[in-house]
Amino acid sequence: MANAPEARASDTYAMADFASVRKFDAHVHANADSPAFLEQARADGFELLSINVDYPAFPPVVEQHAIALKQAAADPVHFHWATTFSMQGFEGAGWAAATGDLLAADVARGALAVKIWKNVGMVEKDADGQLVMLDHPGLEPVIARIQALGVPLIGHQGEPHNCWLPLAQMSTDNDREYFGNHPEYHMYLHPDQPGYEDHMRVRDGFLAAHPRLRFVGAHMASLEWDVDRLAAFLDRFPEATVDLAARMAQVQAQAVREPDKVRDFFITYQNRLLYGTDLTQDPAGDPEAFKRAAHAVWQSDWKFLATGEVQRIETIRADVAGLALPRTAIDRIYYGNAARVFAPRED
Ligand SMILES: [Zn+2]
Repeated sequence: MANAPEARASDTYAMADFASVRKFDAHVHANADSPAFLEQARADGFELLSINVDYPAFPPVVEQHAIALKQAAADPVHFHWATTFSMQGFEGAGWAAATGDLLAADVARGALAVKIWKNVGMVEKDADGQLVMLDHPGLEPVIARIQALGVPLIGHQGEPHNCWLPLAQMSTDNDREYFGNHPEYHMYLHPDQPGYEDHMRVRDGFLAAHPRLRFVGAHMASLEWDVDRLAAFLDRFPEATVDLAARMAQVQAQAVREPDKVRDFFITYQNRLLYGTDLTQDPAGDPEAFKRAAHAVWQSDWKFLATGEVQRIETIRADVAGLALPRTAIDRIYYGNAARVFAPRED
């Protein structure tokens, strides 16, 4: 065919394709009552999934919820949201039923998923004073309700592997900065708490007990440090997908050491990976500065995943060559998988 060489040349995308390719950021936090996030998303060709989360450093969940409803009403094409629930009153009379009713109401108002955060596993205690892990029987009625609603559960359990290391031994500066600022979550300092493998074992046991639950492992299911481990997880749990939010540097660190292995992983599991960033618009921040930062993150990730260009990644202090993934894989990771995973479904 006359156009065969041209077809080969266009097997991958270029930087110039960035804005025009349909994309979905499956993990952001639009915490400001501001049009800036949506403006930048539209300019860069992104839809957003803003995830409400009961995080003490974020505005209260009721505020996040109100902002989500307002932005979804303003631009339902580009703005989507995931709800969450409070652990306040856990195990109390009526907590599970009331929580399930609130989640059902949120799904009826357009929530595409439910987030369960790392406070389950790291912070919340039950009536016996024990940490509430993901497999706690008190959570079971809520999990069953989520499955019946037909929406995925986005689970952030455990932390990056670095969390159990001293700051100096962490593999990325962003982890060093986060855990330096949040010693309460830096588990190296809390050896009495569950270890990394404890979190992974409980989460995996929970998924084995819920084979039909649609599960999105936030932050690469805390297996960001080893694509082999993540591959084994995805093989074991066919209903699971993972988002890449806030863990690209760990992927890049592996890609510096073993580029072919990391590229093969992305191609093999291209149906199971959701592009995401964890970009968070702080209500106190400057909206224009946020837009520039979001654009820079999105462009850097595109350069790494879609092109073969080399860029400096300061957080791992390395020059990183892009994976130059095929267009078909990019289209799935950046859009198709999210469209499938977050589409409402009767279970
Ligand atoms: Zn997040």
